[in-house]
Amino acid sequence: MSMFESVWIKLACQRCGKVEKTIVRFHSYNGPPDAEYELMEVVPQGVGLSRGEVWEGNADRYCEQCYFDWSIAQANAAYDALAELIEKGVVTARAKGSSPPASDSLPVAAINEYKEKYVRKLRREKATVVTMPFFDELRLTVENKPVEDLDRPITDETFNGYPVWDEFLVLIDPLLSDRMSKAGWVADGSTSEDFHVSLDDGRRIVVTDMQGRKLTRDGGRAAQ
Ligand SMILES: [Zn+2]
Repeated sequence: MSMFESVWIKLACQRCGKVEKTIVRFHSYNGPPDAEYELMEVVPQGVGLSRGEVWEGNADRYCEQCYFDWSIAQANAAYDALAELIEKGVVTARAKGSSPPASDSLPVAAINEYKEKYVRKLRREKATVVTMPFFDELRLTVENKPVEDLDRPITDETFNGYPVWDEFLVLIDPLLSDRMSKAGWVADGSTSEDFHVSLDDGRRIVVTDMQGRKLTRDGGRAAQ
């Protein structure tokens, strides 16, 4: 059993434009939990879905190939953004397990080596990674305050009032978004698009995007 209900739709990849069959995942909480519907399918009375309700759903923004390319682009951009922060002297990065810690950051050239190694591994394994890389390999500081090691989360005693995880994200996010957007990707870091799922007057399943346009069976979007 899947974790969500789904509507089969045709959707254009937001990178390459290829139209493919995919699903909008949603939760109605009242309908059969792993139900699958076709777009515009008439849903009979009594299965729990009511007219007038609107369910939040989402679908993958990119086709499989573009999703993989996105992951590579995101990894490259994350290391480049980190290198920029190091160059500005705001952030330091040191290899994990290097002790005692050097007082200076690894140079940008070393970050580039990490980047190339990481991206080679992604390509070799055909892996798609949505999180930022480098937390496995590097210890980071923001103005000499440690960024939390996700392997060893900071306890209340050691935390010492440094909200530096947030600080780091605030620093790196705009640089990352800027790089992704310049490379032609949707810059918000998300690989899915939100939709609304509902029933029309004829109890047909309708999927609407956040601009209020109805998805059509051929993969288009019709203004209401
Ligand atoms: Zn694509």
